[in-house]
Amino acid sequence: MSASQQVFALAAHDASGAVSKIQIERRALGEHDIFIRTTHCGICHSDIHQARSEWGPAPYPLVPGHEIVGVVEAVGSAVSKFTIGQRAGVGCFTDSCRSCRNCGVGDDHLCPSTAFTYGYRYPDGSFAHGGYSQGIVVDQRYALSIPEQLASAGAAPLLCAGITVYSPIKHYGVRSHHRVGVLGLGGLGHMAVKILGAMGCHVTVLSTSPSKRDEALALGASQFVLTNGSADELKAVENSLDYIIDTVSADHDVMTYAALLRHNATIIVVGVPSKPFVIPPFALIMKRIKIGGSLIGGIAETQEMLDFCARHGITADVEVIPASYVNKAFERVLKSDVHYRFCIDMSTLTAESPEVETA
Ligand code: NAP
Ligand code: ZN
Ligand code: ZN
Repeated sequence: MSASQQVFALAAHDASGAVSKIQIERRALGEHDIFIRTTHCGICHSDIHQARSEWGPAPYPLVPGHEIVGVVEAVGSAVSKFTIGQRAGVGCFTDSCRSCRNCGVGDDHLCPSTAFTYGYRYPDGSFAHGGYSQGIVVDQRYALSIPEQLASAGAAPLLCAGITVYSPIKHYGVRSHHRVGVLGLGGLGHMAVKILGAMGCHVTVLSTSPSKRDEALALGASQFVLTNGSADELKAVENSLDYIIDTVSADHDVMTYAALLRHNATIIVVGVPSKPFVIPPFALIMKRIKIGGSLIGGIAETQEMLDFCARHGITADVEVIPASYVNKAFERVLKSDVHYRFCIDMSTLTAESPEVETA
């Protein structure tokens, strides 16, 4: 692939977030680049936040998608990590400076120059386009190898939802004897339940959806607590948790759940609602509670997470959808009606494929 090429993609055009089919250009292969023919792309709530300009004005047209799995179709002359026909994945970023302190210690996702998979502005002023597209060009260094045990549709969401919970579980020192609350049972939440379960932790799902009770237990949770149900249910788990992983996408008061924490516990924030939290000092000081955040994970750690999932037989629970269903899927995610990740079958996006239905 010595020349750039046009591919079909789904792009949002305004703050309604609704996507429709467009054509975009993928760069000619550099010597370290691979072209991945996308087979699957997960729908992360971050795609919806950004398509709707909820984190600030998005550069439209915006092609979302950072849970990408596909097949390598072409390789540059210096590529050694992948061969044609092999599966490869792309997560939330496709480059970094490679020389700063963070890049040096494997925190390339925290590099000041991280090139996010979509919405990132290149030096020439153009913007990066993500995985809701027929194919993507990426430097081999920022592409992931998909272990053969993992089916593509269920593996794609590991590249954001999986690593986003795996990384803080490690960083904040969660161990098998800890009792961990998972606040919000969506894409990230269900991956947290599976990964913590594989580690042997006692997991309490804290959810606003009564219909998810049985599913939470089937995913490996030890307990399910309806946070907007009876006060008794919440009272029963007071002072029991060493950690809460907050995956909630909508505005909420995480400190409501401080009563559920033991002393010295940690709240790990990964969800990104638009309103800031209010942190009452007494809620922190009386039990010596810490609150911290976490952003995705580095490339090496993402590969480690994929290998962990392969060893434990973990993939996301996916509802595989055609490209024409994406707007409807967005609406269902907004209603917390996803069990537990939509994954787009990208082979359904072609020149002839039907337009995306309106929600
Ligand atoms: P998701 O699938 O929509 O899950 C979010 C869950 O939050 C819902 O399933 C629901 O769980 C709960 N929720 C929704 N609205 C709520 C409300 N009004 N009050 C209380 N709970 C509510 O989203 P996701 O893809 O997992 O992403 C979750 C958040 O993490 C998003 O904000 C996303 O942008 C962010 N994110 C962050 C990173 C990072 O690097 N830090 C990476 C990826 C995503 P229940 O039905 O169980 O209540
Ligand atoms: Zn994401
Ligand atoms: Zn760097």
